[in-house]
Amino acid sequence: MISLYLIVGLFGALIGSFLNVCIYRLPRHESIAWPGSHCPACAHPIAWYDNIPIVSYLILSGRCRHCAVRIPLRYPVVEALNVLGYVGLLWFFGPGWPAAAYGLLYSALLVVAGTDLSHKIIPNVITFPGIAVGLISAATILPLGLTNGLIGLLVGGGILWLLAWASPYLFGKEGMGGGDIKLLAMIGAFLGWKPAVMTIMVGSFLGSLVGITLIAARVIKREDHIPFGPFLVCGALVALFFGQSILDWYQGLLAG
Ligand SMILES: [Zn+2]
Repeated sequence: MISLYLIVGLFGALIGSFLNVCIYRLPRHESIAWPGSHCPACAHPIAWYDNIPIVSYLILSGRCRHCAVRIPLRYPVVEALNVLGYVGLLWFFGPGWPAAAYGLLYSALLVVAGTDLSHKIIPNVITFPGIAVGLISAATILPLGLTNGLIGLLVGGGILWLLAWASPYLFGKEGMGGGDIKLLAMIGAFLGWKPAVMTIMVGSFLGSLVGITLIAARVIKREDHIPFGPFLVCGALVALFFGQSILDWYQGLLAG
């Protein structure tokens, strides 16, 4: 069992390294397959021994070997988060197809959080295939089933579509973009409608909390736009890992 965790962790690090390529290149509309990794500052190709997830960052003290430009902390953080996520999914759901499907969702969420933080973009090339994979997984390998996956897609995407439509009237400004709607549709397709609603509730709560704190601390202004995607991603992770326990607890409250 220990060796399985080790293999899954190493696999998570490798995929995490690829996720960094996606986060950097997708908003720039560059190919994620070609050319190989190179330093964005000096364009020097990165050798395999300088491209080992997490380890190379530590050995190089976070700088390019050739031009010494700082490598963003995002690289080892995304790699470490993907390792933690995969190991956590294995721990929570045990070895099997559901954990593998959730691993795909988890990695897609990391890319979305990264591109939304850096460019305020949630790429369609992640969410559209993600919705399809979510529905196929729901129909085949997840306990959810196709009908519940479809309901999750419609409820998750629908609530955010309504919020996006209503927020200029309610708050006098654009609340969220089409990317957020497709993101929630993807989460709903994988998890179903109750976890999708939980995602929106937790995401909105965290978003307001952080927004109010940043405005109070004068880091941002009231009219500044904060990307909502990373908060929705946090909400989705809460729903993915703890959704069932929270729902059981809540239903217990109602029954009691
Ligand atoms: Zn360089």
